[in-house]
Amino acid sequence: MNWALARHYVTPLLAALALTAAAWLASLPHARLESVILIVLAWVWTMRLVLHLKTQDTFLSESIVQLENTVDRWASGDLEARVYLDQADALDRLAHGMNRVAEALKERTEDLEQDKERLEAILTSMANGIIILSHGLTVTLINQAAYQLFGIESKDVLGSHLLEVIRDVAIDDAVHQVTTSGITETVLWSPHDAEDEVIEVTVAALNQPLGGVGAVLVARNVSAQKQVERMRQDFVANVSHELQTPLTIIRGFTETLQDDTDPDTARRFIQLIHEEATRMSHLVDDLLALSRMEHHSLPVNRIPVDVPVLVESIVVKLGPRAEASELIFDNQLPSHIPMVAGDPDLLAEVFLNLISNAVQYTPAGGLITIKLASLPGDSMVGIAVKDTGIGIPSQDISRIFERFYRVDRARSRASGGTGLGLAIVKHIMELHQGRIEVSSQVGQGTTFTVWLHRFSE
Ligand code: ADP
Repeated sequence: MNWALARHYVTPLLAALALTAAAWLASLPHARLESVILIVLAWVWTMRLVLHLKTQDTFLSESIVQLENTVDRWASGDLEARVYLDQADALDRLAHGMNRVAEALKERTEDLEQDKERLEAILTSMANGIIILSHGLTVTLINQAAYQLFGIESKDVLGSHLLEVIRDVAIDDAVHQVTTSGITETVLWSPHDAEDEVIEVTVAALNQPLGGVGAVLVARNVSAQKQVERMRQDFVANVSHELQTPLTIIRGFTETLQDDTDPDTARRFIQLIHEEATRMSHLVDDLLALSRMEHHSLPVNRIPVDVPVLVESIVVKLGPRAEASELIFDNQLPSHIPMVAGDPDLLAEVFLNLISNAVQYTPAGGLITIKLASLPGDSMVGIAVKDTGIGIPSQDISRIFERFYRVDRARSRASGGTGLGLAIVKHIMELHQGRIEVSSQVGQGTTFTVWLHRFSE
């Protein structure tokens, strides 16, 4: 039974009854006092009832206003707002329920905010470009890397159509195909003004939460990878070419030797076969040295190296060759220069290559000088190998450290060069964090200067 409702109906009924009874009593003789009392009682009762109803009504309105205000604040994003009612009744229970919902909503919103921040941090720090396209192929998400990789100049492209953002038919075709077939596609894309730059774009279908299929584009810069691939292909082609020439010569001589040849010719042919085999063997040695250097992941052995002693041993070793070519060595290195930090075997390889090149590219009567290039206070030790040879044209200087690059291929081959010597020297210098400089004048001579770190305990 609803007592509050009963009270609302019964109280005025009783008041009306009391009033009627009072009126009736008043009409009776000798009953004037009782009737007055009854009338007063009925009025008090009625007034109390009116006051009570008014109070209840006021309380209800205030509570509803509080509830309304709180809901408004939640709607405007203020989930900290709570409603507290004075009285423990049904409205108050409703208020408590609403507060609990707000608390849960607040926690959930904070979780979502955190997830969003995490996602944004990941997307911003990624080197790969990400673009998410809606069903209508408009951009709904894009990260900084995508702006850079695709060279997008506009500051904000959210909501723009794919074709307005990346004007490339191949990418547009791939997106259309992927959204219909659902099969991921990869496109290689190059900016118009940078042919060497290659961007790999992977396009995958993305089901949209509200239906329809959009796409996600993941772009990464594969220029370095492509360049390595190209270099590897060039390298294999070069090695094959270098090996093919001596092998063809050897095959020709052996075929001739199978026929009857006089002993003198046979001896000459066998000598030539030996020379070609030696050339191949040098090539393989240099290739192995280069490969070892490239896979040298550990830092090189850094022990004190006495360069004058090392250079003198090489000068002695190459002495007969220099003499045969009518060249003079002038080793001006003082015997007491600072020790350098390095691997003695690798540094010997550097000086052997430089000094034997000087011998190789200097005509008879020339001079090869080895001297100190650094001053006493310098932090690095510099050693120069100078010749009075044929020199290197200025346009070739930047390329002579490339594998198989030769200014004069025929001349290099004739003297047994492999075209790998300076590439090996460059690698060894890199492993020692040193540097090599070249200065040359055609017809005047060339100077290679090697800079190495002093040894310190
Ligand atoms: P190679 O086996 O052909 O000597 P390198 O790598 O040692 O190969 O040298 C590359 C090219 O640099 C040579 O073919 C030559 O053209 C040029 N070069 C190197 N050293 C000298 C030098 N001292 N004088 C002139 N040219 C040189």
